[in-house]
Amino acid sequence: MSEQWIFLNNRFVKKEEAVVSVYDHGFLYGDGVFEGIRMYNGNVFRLDDHMKRLYESAHSIMLQIPFEKEELTELVVETCRKNGLQDAYIRLVISRGVGDLGLNPYTCKEAGVIIIAEPLALFPKRLYETGIEVVTVPSRRNRADVLSPKVKSLNYLNNILVKIEASLAGVNEALMMNDQGYVAEASGENIFIVKDGVIKTPPGYVGALEGITRNAIIELAKNAQLDIREDVFTRHDVYTADEVFLTGTAAEVIAVVKVDGRQIGNGKPGEITNQLLALFREAVSVDGTKVYPHSEVQVS
Ligand code: PMP
Repeated sequence: MSEQWIFLNNRFVKKEEAVVSVYDHGFLYGDGVFEGIRMYNGNVFRLDDHMKRLYESAHSIMLQIPFEKEELTELVVETCRKNGLQDAYIRLVISRGVGDLGLNPYTCKEAGVIIIAEPLALFPKRLYETGIEVVTVPSRRNRADVLSPKVKSLNYLNNILVKIEASLAGVNEALMMNDQGYVAEASGENIFIVKDGVIKTPPGYVGALEGITRNAIIELAKNAQLDIREDVFTRHDVYTADEVFLTGTAAEVIAVVKVDGRQIGNGKPGEITNQLLALFREAVSVDGTKVYPHSEVQVS
């Protein structure tokens, strides 16, 4: 890529010039919200859903985004175009903005807006063939009544601690329980289990981010007449499942073949996992917002 352009506050700047103030409350306090979005072959996958989640997260923390939803949607699309991208990972960040050193968010006059679109570092193909190993960790998911996991905030310390615990255990990803011991999600993905043909993922109240990929998988599974339900489950249910998989914008649908040393199923990505990954990959370049041609912004 020749020149990388980043949208910062109200204009496009070169990557080297895209810097934010040390007084930005996003930096000082993790005070802000964000989205991780993906473009496949010139199609931004479910951009409207990401925008909805972003504006709801911002509303929840009383953060005023200085653009109408439609304007910001167009700016995301324009960032992809300006960087000449067909396939990309897009990071959209809304920070409380520059203020005083104190906590008070009202010292921040205007929210900061950052849009970065860059070529995607794909998950290694090998992992989709072998599946991954995860552990469960002592860190609990944020209680929904403390800081709702539905708010995709810049405060990711909970998830970062989980990443550290995973790494100490010698694996890349880990599962978090909620405060009652029910399985919530992984540090950056939602979880599904399959048992006797029934697919389950924890309902929102267990305390997980409402993943765009998760919701797409629920829809795709229903359309394929698969039995899919939101239900609570424990570590035992994960250990004894026939299949386990994680979903997320970066990971797509990835099989988990070992949990806390217990082999899942036959130790290989399962049939339903592979079926859902195939359906998901079929959907990604048609379901969303077309970036090209220039004049067209359409949502299917
Ligand atoms: N849970 C958490 C904590 C995440 O950070 C993510 C990634 N955004 C997900 C789940 C998956 O969500 P999505 O499918 O929208 O990427």
